[in-house]
Amino acid sequence: MKKKFKTFRTKKVNCFICGNTLDAATGKAKPEPGDITICFYCGTLYRFDENLILQLASNEILDPEEKILINKMRLEAKLYHSQKS
Ligand SMILES: [Zn+2]
Repeated sequence: MKKKFKTFRTKKVNCFICGNTLDAATGKAKPEPGDITICFYCGTLYRFDENLILQLASNEILDPEEKILINKMRLEAKLYHSQKS
């Protein structure tokens, strides 16, 4: 099965770690409470709370499938930034 990822706009927040503005999330569907995402700049893991506000999250909360997805997203982000510079 082919999984397509789309980018969805989210409420603007600044990454707690690197300070860059985060205003989008990439995933299979519109973000829902409890969904995970990463900072596109530094790879910090976040989870949407019940108001779809990003909260810092720990890698330990991930199940194996999510870990693979997050690692993929981190690699893609790295690649994007290395091509840009
Ligand atoms: Zn960051």
